[in-house]
Amino acid sequence: MLVIGDAKCLHCGWVTGRWVGPKGAPLTVSGLRGESGAHAAGPEELIRCGRCEGPVFLDDASLVNSTYRLRRIRRLREQIAALDAERDRAA
Ligand SMILES: [Zn+2]
Repeated sequence: MLVIGDAKCLHCGWVTGRWVGPKGAPLTVSGLRGESGAHAAGPEELIRCGRCEGPVFLDDASLVNSTYRLRRIRRLREQIAALDAERDRAA
């Protein structure tokens, strides 16, 4: 079962990014989606806070029911990123 939520710092509350992965799995860098401020060395490293390098936990987690939904989330993110890029160009 997959969950998605915010990778949030235990120390300062900073959200390093969205994380998707199996329920109960360690929060590794490979599960991060979108921008990553993580200071980790590789995809199997545990995520550290992008601001203070503290440990992170999964906040506001919800279930991801299917790979279809995962693909859809990824596509929506790409569309949002494209819109942001467009807006940056126009500004
Ligand atoms: Zn922190």
